[in-house]
Amino acid sequence: MMTTLTSETKTKIKGLIKGNVVVPDDPGYEEARQIWNAMIDRRPAAIVQCAQADDIPPVIRFARTNGLELSIRGAGHNIGGNALCDNGITIDFSRMKNVRVDAGKKRAYVEPGATLADLDKATQAHGLATPVGINSTTGIAGLTLGGGFGWLTRKYGMTVDNLVSVDIITADGKKLRASENENSDLFWALRGGGGNFGVVTQFEFQLFPVGPEVVAGLIVFPFRQAKQILTKYREFVNSAPEVLNVWVVLRKAPPLPFLPQNVHGKEVVVLPIFYCGPAAEAEKLLAPVRAFGDAHGEHIGTQPYVEWQKAFDPLLTPGARNYWKSHNFTELAGGALNSIIDFAGKLPSPQCEIFIGLISGAPNRVAPEAMAYAHRDAKFVLNVHGRWDEAKDDQRCIAWAREFFRASAPYASAGAYVNFMTAEENDRVAAAYGSNYDRLVEIKRRYDPENVFHLNQNIKT
Ligand SMILES: Cc1cc2nc3c(=O)[nH]c(=O)nc-3n(C[C@H](O)[C@H](O)[C@H](O)COP(=O)(O)OP(=O)(O)OC[C@H]3O[C@@H](n4cnc5c(N)ncnc54)[C@H](O)[C@@H]3O)c2cc1C
Repeated sequence: MMTTLTSETKTKIKGLIKGNVVVPDDPGYEEARQIWNAMIDRRPAAIVQCAQADDIPPVIRFARTNGLELSIRGAGHNIGGNALCDNGITIDFSRMKNVRVDAGKKRAYVEPGATLADLDKATQAHGLATPVGINSTTGIAGLTLGGGFGWLTRKYGMTVDNLVSVDIITADGKKLRASENENSDLFWALRGGGGNFGVVTQFEFQLFPVGPEVVAGLIVFPFRQAKQILTKYREFVNSAPEVLNVWVVLRKAPPLPFLPQNVHGKEVVVLPIFYCGPAAEAEKLLAPVRAFGDAHGEHIGTQPYVEWQKAFDPLLTPGARNYWKSHNFTELAGGALNSIIDFAGKLPSPQCEIFIGLISGAPNRVAPEAMAYAHRDAKFVLNVHGRWDEAKDDQRCIAWAREFFRASAPYASAGAYVNFMTAEENDRVAAAYGSNYDRLVEIKRRYDPENVFHLNQNIKT
């Protein structure tokens, strides 16, 4: 196995492709190997910044012939750091971010390096959108291949529910299209099965009229009212219309201008609110939420959907150390609420948070076996987001996340969201796919029998 690529080899790869090749001696190397989670420190032997889909087959062939690892980087957000490999080749899509919209057909055609911001900007130019995540710098590629959910999910489903087709290059260098009608087994697997089946070069999504203005914002309640807020939240979301989405974040208050100064840095319960129905009805729908408790403050109003999609970016910038644990829930049992409140009361750093994403609605109307993403009973996704700056705090912050994960486990449903899993959770992959796992193994055997694409939530052949 080669461990370093000589400049001669770099020239060889460069001769095969239209894109760029960055190796450790190049000035841009350090920047090119950065990903969102600063805990990951991997050094690929070459980062191939592809310029076109045709760059991929020769790179796969080169890696396989030379016994080199291959990793795939969308926008580098995955917590496990699989976008990078040590001493192998990283296929990097940072130069392929184009999004084309056919407004008449309500379709978007998206290159794999596009971020959510790229997609939202292009689709919202036509007053359209598809459900994606809540942090605009996340990559559409990794998010879609693992499932994908965000503010629009209650109404329009998971991101994978709106995937129409995929162009992909498989381990043998073949270009395929996968959809309901073409290579439908592969299409089934790609909707949730992650980067296991090849290198996706284009995603096609169906779009819906959204905004461009929506009603959105935050209400911030005192932590001492957490039990009351969470109990009322649980009742409220049972019957709330699907055009309304309310999540819960328990954390220390950032210095938001609408909060009194003495609240900054104190534990709070934040309810992020998103409403994409008729604006005139928003006040009536929000009145019960405001009555959950005595809020410290709120900031809710009409704003462009694309701006709301960026609202959490300042809290989720790259460069911090991050460790996540996650459970799905079909209901928020009293015991789950107690453990959430208990651990939110002992946050080990000012940036750590516990969030509950609400996904009840359209995703629950799809059969679990309809595609690889299986969690059709999940109504809430809990993410224990450990986040801090200094390596000396690793142990303390990771221990907090793990302990909370264990304490809340008895109330969780089976399965897990693969996009929130860390590198050490490989033993959870089969459980994450539940009864769909065996079919995923079969399809993996057909399209990638030698497990060339194993830097992911790996489906073992
Ligand atoms: C701050 C933050 C907020 C998030 N919020 C949400 C959210 O609201 N909703 C949600 O659902 N998820 C969310 N996520 C999780 C997110 O969906 C995953 O981290 C996802 O993997 C990110 O995709 P990426 O392309 O940026 O990641 P990368 O790290 O670049 O890629 C992740 C993996 O996807 C595979 N992959 C990437 N590109 C390709 C390709 N072209 N072909 C084949 N395989 C490929 C590879 O296996 C790769 O290792 C969030 C993550 C972060 C860090």
